[in-house]
Amino acid sequence: MGGDEAAVTPRLPYLNARLQGLGTTIFAAMSAVAEATGSVNLGQGFPDYRGPVEVLEAAVAAIGQGHNQYPPGRGIQSLRDAVAIHQRHWYGLDFDPASEILVTAGATEALAGTILSLCEVGDEVVMFEPYYDAYPALVAMAGATHRVVPLRPPAWGFDPDELRRAITPRTRLIIVNTPNNPTGKVFDRDELELIASLCRDQDLIAVTDEVYEHLVFDGEHRPLAAFDGMRDRTVTISSAGKTFSVTGWKIGWACAIPQLITAVQTAKQFLTFAGGTPFQHAIAAGLALPDDRLRDVRDDLRMRRDLFCEGMADLGFDVLAPASGYFATTDIGSMKEHDAVAFCRQMPERCGVVGIPSQVFYDHPGDARTLVRWAFCKSTPTLEEALRRLATLSPSR
Ligand code: PMP
Ligand code: GLN
Repeated sequence: MGGDEAAVTPRLPYLNARLQGLGTTIFAAMSAVAEATGSVNLGQGFPDYRGPVEVLEAAVAAIGQGHNQYPPGRGIQSLRDAVAIHQRHWYGLDFDPASEILVTAGATEALAGTILSLCEVGDEVVMFEPYYDAYPALVAMAGATHRVVPLRPPAWGFDPDELRRAITPRTRLIIVNTPNNPTGKVFDRDELELIASLCRDQDLIAVTDEVYEHLVFDGEHRPLAAFDGMRDRTVTISSAGKTFSVTGWKIGWACAIPQLITAVQTAKQFLTFAGGTPFQHAIAAGLALPDDRLRDVRDDLRMRRDLFCEGMADLGFDVLAPASGYFATTDIGSMKEHDAVAFCRQMPERCGVVGIPSQVFYDHPGDARTLVRWAFCKSTPTLEEALRRLATLSPSR
């Protein structure tokens, strides 16, 4: 390569800046640190336990039955049917499996296809902050820019005027992630109604990220598409990774009116084209499981949330327990720590645990500089070991 490093620097200045010299996302970087140092990995959000056995067995069976070639570009029929039934059953939303549902390589590809196909250079995308890291990165890849609306702890509410001010004549999309990563916030009816009314008034397309839809402990998940006038202006995105504890399978989907689905597919077919055939079969089987099997996954995770959050509170940590999802937040400001990046860098050596500095989910972290995100989607022995190790940092020791 001629040894010229500048020549191989990706031509994506925003992404290079975000990666802060790590070369990968913070999640992948911190998983590598955990591996290299033998630390308990409470960084990247993936379970270290198995999902429902019926779903795992269905994937093995699908491979055995020879479902190993390219699926149709929109996904196999039985999975699109299963997603349509799921949306009707849980939320009363009707989508035509032939023209209004697209299977993707995880929610990530659905988000990428949506943002790349709907945004042009100069467009703006509104999102709440803290945000999932892929949103601003994908917006940058589309040549668009993002504007943030702060969610403020401890309740993670937002100021309606700040949302109104973030919308400009250039706004093309608004991204709504509920249930939310990293905060665990579940947007309530009034908040969603306000977002819906702004989308209607300003003629905006909403993109929802609902990957934690079945992991709500407190409150209720409401899809934005179910609000008045929103079905036809929302791209509803979800995936199977969290619902069935199979994050490595990367089976996701988008539901929207035919014109929007066609747009998303236009980009999607040049991203992965299509993939994951046996896993598509398995998730079709998973979505047909009785509701109680999905609730079992949630109840099991709630137990892990409580174990971790109560354990951390007992150690004297300042805990923000989440209403949903995989992650808890602590504020290390009360431990006289000023910067969660430095804290998280030192943690593997100080106590053998990995967490994520919440700053990576912000443009302007401000008071969030002292927040740390912890993944509690881990087996009981893993969580107990993490708590034992974190006791050595305990503010109350
Ligand atoms: N959105 C959110 C909010 C997430 O936390 C994640 C990470 N799992 C994703 C999207 C990506 O989902 P997938 O693995 O299905 O691409
Ligand atoms: N969603 C996961 C998290 O927030 C990470 C997925 C990834 O590594 N891209 O930790």
